[in-house]
Amino acid sequence: MIVRTRFAPKGYCLNLFGLYLARDTSWIDRYVVNHERIHDAQQRELLYVAFYLLYVLEWIVRLVQYRHRRKAYRNISFEREAYSHGRDLSYLPHRRRYAWLRYLRP
Ligand SMILES: [Zn+2]
Repeated sequence: MIVRTRFAPKGYCLNLFGLYLARDTSWIDRYVVNHERIHDAQQRELLYVAFYLLYVLEWIVRLVQYRHRRKAYRNISFEREAYSHGRDLSYLPHRRRYAWLRYLRP
């Protein structure tokens, strides 16, 4: 479900337990929804809490590595998988469990 809220950072869609939060929803198309559904799959296989812990931990590591917020975000393994396959609408039915692990690299 897509929820429009001013609490979401501008230009981003936050996935909170399957709720897609965005300040402006006009740019959210089926590819963005597919990207978020990939995050849904990642969250489910990590029982949600572990997903958010690992996400924040890796973001901090990437922030130290890249010293650039956007680059750090784009290189989180969960985001690498979601951005690599967001435009492939046939990806999710064939996705292997824990596929994001293949994107966990320096
Ligand atoms: Zn994402």
